[in-house]
Amino acid sequence: MASLSPPATTGRLAGVRHPWSSSSVGTKCEQMTLEATYKKIRSGRRITAAEGLFVLQNAELLDLGELAGEIRFKKNPEPLVTFVVDTNPNYSNVCNIDCVFCAFYRHPGEEGAYTHSVEHMIQKFKESAAKGVTTVLLQGGVNPALPFEYYLDLVRRTVKEVPEIHPHFFSTSEIIGMAQVSGQTVREVLERLWEAGLRSIPGGGAEILSDRVKKKISSKKGTSADWLNVMREAHRIGYKSTATMMYGHVETDADIIEHLESIRKLQDETGGFTAFVPWSFKPGNTPLEKIIPHYATPTRYLQIIALARIYLDNFSHIQASWFSEGKKTGQIGLHFGADDFGGTLLEENVHAAANFVNKTNTEECIQLIHESGFSAAQRTTLYEILRVHDPIGAAA
Ligand code: SF4
Repeated sequence: MASLSPPATTGRLAGVRHPWSSSSVGTKCEQMTLEATYKKIRSGRRITAAEGLFVLQNAELLDLGELAGEIRFKKNPEPLVTFVVDTNPNYSNVCNIDCVFCAFYRHPGEEGAYTHSVEHMIQKFKESAAKGVTTVLLQGGVNPALPFEYYLDLVRRTVKEVPEIHPHFFSTSEIIGMAQVSGQTVREVLERLWEAGLRSIPGGGAEILSDRVKKKISSKKGTSADWLNVMREAHRIGYKSTATMMYGHVETDADIIEHLESIRKLQDETGGFTAFVPWSFKPGNTPLEKIIPHYATPTRYLQIIALARIYLDNFSHIQASWFSEGKKTGQIGLHFGADDFGGTLLEENVHAAANFVNKTNTEECIQLIHESGFSAAQRTTLYEILRVHDPIGAAA
């Protein structure tokens, strides 16, 4: 895929012979037109990587949104948008991976570095549960000083002492770190976490699944294959996970397609992804800010959401977040193929470290979904619907 070349021209190319004749994925692209590609999409056939790239670079935004909306309603016909009442605390910001897009981490011993005890985290979870939180998405840095027993204890005690919440803990990077610290394989680490009670993991750590990009922004973090391998092993054991993507930095359009192709293939193999969750790079306070000081545009976000709905034909849910791109953009995303509005995020520290702060609460989240023309459905981590709030706010 890395040798997929972007076309020489961009803009509307409907009816125009495309400059590619083939790509490294073996797809013939001769006479590719938007019209023919839209027809293929509408007929329910899967588009190729080359067609995905062609659409990304040439489709009108509103056409893309319309197509994605059609697919969303075919897949999930109810005019419902789901959300989860959740929180994203962190147990440690100590990390030795040095991703240049990250403003959150501190080296061991550096000013501002912290690692909380299991007891401290359990008390936080209890406070969150008392406020109605049902999902805790927990991540840290990759802290080499923490023994594997710390993570097992955290999971065991959460399941036992705070049964109201679903632990959605640890990115692939942390799981690889646990394997290194404990001398076990990734599979063994995941099995022991499963025995402790963990049932789902977040999709963090993917950024862009292109090794060309990873070498530039997170050279110590492992390869795309490493991320996919953790997810594959997790899904085989029975875990569910999300698939994420952080774009808007050094990637090309072809890298985005490579990312989508990788997760679509793995989903074909395991069926373990619940949803696709994209967000844009937030440059504040990061080393990468010197090179990429700006935010990706809302237009780009809507393109990504719509393309994901079209390309990821084996994903049930696509998330448009009120948090990561702003409330208005998140609402519009619900008309570009997304059917989930993310979580209420009682606590969030990673984007906050990059000076990006956005707040809501359950009531406003419901209201934002209603304003967008949908009923709001509170869900669990695994997308089971708990209760539906119709547009006049009554619980069904
Ligand atoms: S993104 Fe994660 S792994 Fe990378 S530096 Fe930040 S905390 Fe560490």
